[in-house]
Amino acid sequence: MKVVTSIKEMQQHIKTLKLEGKTVGFVPTMGFLHEGHLTLMNKARSENDVLAVSIFVNPLQFGPNEDFDSYPRDFERDSKLAENNGVDILFHPSTEDMYPTKMSLTANVHSRIDVLCGRQRNGHFDGVATVLIKLFNILQPDRAYFGLKDAQQVAVVDGLISDFNFPIKLVPVEIVREEDGLAKSSRNVNLTDKERAEAPRLYESLQMAKTAIEDGQRNPRVVEELIMNHITKHTSGAIDYVEIYSYPALDELSELTGKIIIAIAVKFTKVRLIDNITFDVKEIF
Ligand code: AMP
Repeated sequence: MKVVTSIKEMQQHIKTLKLEGKTVGFVPTMGFLHEGHLTLMNKARSENDVLAVSIFVNPLQFGPNEDFDSYPRDFERDSKLAENNGVDILFHPSTEDMYPTKMSLTANVHSRIDVLCGRQRNGHFDGVATVLIKLFNILQPDRAYFGLKDAQQVAVVDGLISDFNFPIKLVPVEIVREEDGLAKSSRNVNLTDKERAEAPRLYESLQMAKTAIEDGQRNPRVVEELIMNHITKHTSGAIDYVEIYSYPALDELSELTGKIIIAIAVKFTKVRLIDNITFDVKEIF
């Protein structure tokens, strides 16, 4: 595995690989790797000649009161995990390298951001899109792998790739969970023991919602209420949002029909957790 910290060196290496006709699969991450990341990597590994992973905690996508400083970091551990999971290139640039000066030009996402995390985290997706434009240009992947845990991010990246004509195939990957249902996340280590014990209730509330829909409930407001009650009753977290939309368009629904996403965000003491499920209501009998 080649660990690269310099952007210039990364560009030179990619140029050589491209000249050799190699395909590059890319998994962008913020590190503190877990099985969710490893699943993305395994898929990328199997579909490309070269597997490139980036580890960069991107300051642009964190709001002033968010967890940029406390975001877990352990490069040594990550690089061992990456090496053991068949990563060919581990790109780990410094913040100074990525943003040597204040950017003179940044991305401004217009669509699909007035809902879910976009509404709660002002400017978050602008920061995500800006860093991805840089990373896509530096690594020139043929395929880029993103987890559906961040379903809205997948929708935003889809728009970014098509609007800016990146010759990249977006590959969405299913959510990987702990045995108790909690969606794997680097941030889970910042839960207190009590909060960690409560956290599976989030997925449980999503499953309850799905059961209610299976039983015939078609009113999204009633389903949202059900989820909120379950989370309020069983956790100490503060609900940021519980929302249901069509997926992937993220349009408002007055009645549940077609493919939908049920998404939640809950704030605990030091960490805000997100989770979602997507399914087709038509397929439920
Ligand atoms: P992050 O390091 O949290 O920015 O995540 C990097 C990539 O891994 C993103 O595309 C995430 O959606 C994806 N990811 C994170 N957690 C999971 C998970 N539990 N299951 C599937 N993908 C995930």
